[in-house]
Amino acid sequence: MPMPLDKILNAESVAIVGASKNETKRGYQTIRTLLDEKYEGRIYPVNPKEKSILGFKCYRSVSEIEGPVDVVLVATPARSLPAVLEDCGRKGVKGAVVLAGGFGEIGLSGKKLENEMVAVARKYNIRLIGPNTSGMLNLHDGLNLVGLKDAPKGDIALLTQSGNMALTLITEAKLKSRKGFSYYVGVGNEADIKFHEYLEFFRQDPKTKAILIYVEGLRSGREFLQQAQKTSLEKPIILLKSGRSSTGKKSAGSHTGALAGISEVAKIAFKRAGIIVIENSDELLPAAETLSSLAPIKNNRVAILADGGGHATIAADLLTDLGVEIPELSTKTQASLRKILPEAASVPNPVDVAGGTDADPSVFADCADIILKDPNVGGLLIVGLFGGYGIRFAASLSLMEEDAAHRMGKMIKKRHKPIVLHSLYNSEKPHALELLRYYGIPVFDSLDVASKCIGVLAEYGSYLNRYHAKNVFALNWGAKAKSQGRQIIAAAVKDGRQALLENEAKQLFAAHGAPVTKDMLAATADEAVEMAKKIGQEVVLKIVSPDILHKSDAGGVKVRLRTEKEIRRGFNEIKKSAQQFDPTADIRGILVSPMAAEGVEVIIGTKYDDQFGPVIMYGLGGIMVEILKDVSFRVLPITPTNARKMIEQTKSYPILNGARGKPPLDKKALRKLLLLCSEIVEAYPEILEMDLNPVIVHQNGLSIVDARIILKKEEFE
Ligand code: ADP
Ligand code: MG
Repeated sequence: MPMPLDKILNAESVAIVGASKNETKRGYQTIRTLLDEKYEGRIYPVNPKEKSILGFKCYRSVSEIEGPVDVVLVATPARSLPAVLEDCGRKGVKGAVVLAGGFGEIGLSGKKLENEMVAVARKYNIRLIGPNTSGMLNLHDGLNLVGLKDAPKGDIALLTQSGNMALTLITEAKLKSRKGFSYYVGVGNEADIKFHEYLEFFRQDPKTKAILIYVEGLRSGREFLQQAQKTSLEKPIILLKSGRSSTGKKSAGSHTGALAGISEVAKIAFKRAGIIVIENSDELLPAAETLSSLAPIKNNRVAILADGGGHATIAADLLTDLGVEIPELSTKTQASLRKILPEAASVPNPVDVAGGTDADPSVFADCADIILKDPNVGGLLIVGLFGGYGIRFAASLSLMEEDAAHRMGKMIKKRHKPIVLHSLYNSEKPHALELLRYYGIPVFDSLDVASKCIGVLAEYGSYLNRYHAKNVFALNWGAKAKSQGRQIIAAAVKDGRQALLENEAKQLFAAHGAPVTKDMLAATADEAVEMAKKIGQEVVLKIVSPDILHKSDAGGVKVRLRTEKEIRRGFNEIKKSAQQFDPTADIRGILVSPMAAEGVEVIIGTKYDDQFGPVIMYGLGGIMVEILKDVSFRVLPITPTNARKMIEQTKSYPILNGARGKPPLDKKALRKLLLLCSEIVEAYPEILEMDLNPVIVHQNGLSIVDARIILKKEEFE
């Protein structure tokens, strides 16, 4: 049993290894901050060269300390770590925060040192935060191991892979909101404790209402998704993942490998786990502020209240882009608004008060109350000048704004519906806006940010509404494998091949009932002619060789062959061009397949992602994949709903529905095949990647005409 994290994140005693009298050193700043933040636990400086630091007795080593030590902050260089942890181990220390860089992030030599350090930690059951981290903060207990002063206390847990992003968010919270943090952890290299373990801790922590994450890359993506899915049902997770520009590693053998941009896979998987994914760093803290303060919107429907047309129109556009509905208000609601607003006002939604608040801005609260009563409305976005009427027009109006702020604050509690504000006077910090924040109503000076924030409330509410327990990320390895499939894989491994031949891959699919073309392998032109006779229709001839992955490139495919003459000529031509392509190629024969019926070519593939494990891809074949990259991805396994959405999400989807007077194609068969691919990957853990390229979708059913399966390298070790 690994040590639970609360012993570390809620430590009652701290030793500082590398404690110092020098103000510029972390070994000094940390003790100073622990004192300033009134940490109530025990503090033990460790430094063999000093007698005392800041009034505390200084110890020569951790093992020399008399009382128990929960956590050790290690401020000494990387190479000292194994010895420091040996010393901590003798003492029974539960956790260590390792600040030093110079481990896995610098390459092989650092990785070796990191492994050595982790081995010592495991031996003594010490859990490690970092290395290469800015540290950790428990703000409610003043357990400040970052040496950062005045970080605001609150209910957002902050988990980042970058100290600077943490500093950005903490500074922003301090300057622009009333919000603060319960914890901050810089995960560093995740040599021991991983993202998902922190997530589990924050899920159970009563002081944390929302979790804010900045991530560049995950070490254990699948465990992260599993934990995130569990967590997001209880509290919102807001995440920004950077690294869009560095696309996933390209995999040589299969088409899918080269196409899969990891950021797309990650984004959809995060959303499936209920995570609110933010793409713009300016929106990160505002989204966390909003989600930690307000009830989510249950029906994806928002009203806009404005004191001018421009803001309302822009906000309506932004919300529409986010997929939020702006429903027309009920006749009753519209009538009630009409009673208190001037004739020029527009009331269907967006509501434009048209000067109706000029003499008395508390009318905003009256309008808000009427609007939130409408059962069609799930939340309210107020845009414009509110908060600045006292500044813009007459000072006496400020009091009315403050009155409105109090009323709106109470309104959101009573109705369990959120209000978010945009105010162009936000940076002047009028008191009415401070009051709104006091009630948990966030105010932003950017229309885009305010719209995004009401949008994330709708997104989170919709996720909770449609949450489906079947949508899991747990793989059921070894499920429903067929003995025939096992034999095919075993034979290829024995033959020393990492890739199954086309006919083998198709046999594996056929064993699971998939509609593959019924092929035969011919050794001679005579055999090919015989086989074509048996097939009794137009045939395709294809080269079969472990050395030729892309058969067409080697002149190894001939389609629509009818007569004996055509077949003989095709056979010989294929052999000749394959030999020209690669004179040493090991040719296993030529495949004779029936020509599949007309239809639309699609491609389905799976690949193994470093962070998330197996993922699946779908797209329309040919130019749609190659040039337009019109594909969709999901982390496996998938549900029937995932399969349907994968298909519907592509731009080329209308083609399957029968564009330009053509009949609609068999989408049901396609969904079934996607699910089968998911099952096959789970059934055979040996599979690294597969590619069905193309699958021809017909009006009724489909044909898998080409299949490739690549096995994991481990199978050959
Ligand atoms: P490769 O991808 O290795 O070049 P394929 O088996 O995919 O080889 O064949 C190339 C193309 O030939 C396919 O994209 C498809 O358009 C066509 N084709 C191959 N086999 C058949 C078949 N049995 N029925 C109809 N078309 C086929
Ligand atoms: Mg192909």
